[in-house]
Amino acid sequence: MVVVVREGATSEERAAISRALLASGHALPEPHSSPAGAIFHLDAGGLTDESRQRLAALPGVERLVETPYLLASRALHPDKTTIQIGDVTIGGAGPVVIAGPCAVEGEAQIVEAARAAKTAGAQLLRGGAFKPRTSPYSFQGLGLPGLQALALAGRAAGLPVVTEVMEPGLVTTVAEYADVLQVGSRNMQNFPLLRAVGQAQRPVLLKRGFAATIEEWLLAAEYILLEGNAQVMLCERGVRGFDPNTRNLLDLAAVPLLAQLTHLPVLVDPSHATGRGDLVVPMGVAAIAAGADGLLVEMHPHPEAALSDAEQAITPAQLATLIAQANAVRAALNSSR
Ligand code: PEP
Ligand code: MN
Repeated sequence: MVVVVREGATSEERAAISRALLASGHALPEPHSSPAGAIFHLDAGGLTDESRQRLAALPGVERLVETPYLLASRALHPDKTTIQIGDVTIGGAGPVVIAGPCAVEGEAQIVEAARAAKTAGAQLLRGGAFKPRTSPYSFQGLGLPGLQALALAGRAAGLPVVTEVMEPGLVTTVAEYADVLQVGSRNMQNFPLLRAVGQAQRPVLLKRGFAATIEEWLLAAEYILLEGNAQVMLCERGVRGFDPNTRNLLDLAAVPLLAQLTHLPVLVDPSHATGRGDLVVPMGVAAIAAGADGLLVEMHPHPEAALSDAEQAITPAQLATLIAQANAVRAALNSSR
């Protein structure tokens, strides 16, 4: 729970709040500041109804907010965050589409993919150089040469690039080449990694853990924000379901729910969520209809030849259809607001 202190509260009023918190049995936490004014975060335990009422009635208190996270909370930061990457605004009026192959497979492949993504209307290029593969026998990505090829392809096509970083020790290197640092589903609760990307001067795309609750996900975002990096976007990529027909279960209800809970932009990855190229366009459009700020999509110039996640890659032509439909849906929503 958070006690929001009224702006302009006197030092006597603040001291009275501290005394009331101490009297209710809480060790006094560090005060954090936010646009809503100084706040105290109570980590555990909560308060009895009686001490809650007493606290709320103090003249220095504006309100009590029930939230486990301070910096990610929309109740404490009503203005939506937008993230600027070159000319692209994430969280603004139009949906942003990040597209490209699962993995960088070589310079020719990523340059071809980048040009195709640009022609189809994507605003950013994706491509994994360090890949989190379930099996150690699967293609692991090209590593540093892959990162260099991705940056070169992005420059050639005029697209900023997004790529995954898996280890704290590689954050600085990846940040040299990438415009956005991706934290993958398997690393959503890798706390040293979250702190390391929180110290980087790059926007972070934080994917949802495949079995993470929304609260766990927002607390993971909180780790990044707490290090001073305010440029965090969330990406829903499906959670583990029970039906093998799809790779994961796309939690689209998370999209409008997150818009209530947090000011951070929300993207959806219909590729890892479904695992099937034939479902990527309809579910990508559905995500925009649910209010997503953008999409992260796997597109390969030759899907059948992809070295990883070939089944879920869409073609450049499918990407162009997805972008046209996403823009049409967003325009329809904007015009009827
Ligand atoms: C990816 O987007 O490259 C990826 C590995 O996805 P996820 O972390 O969601 O599985
Ligand atoms: Mn993939």
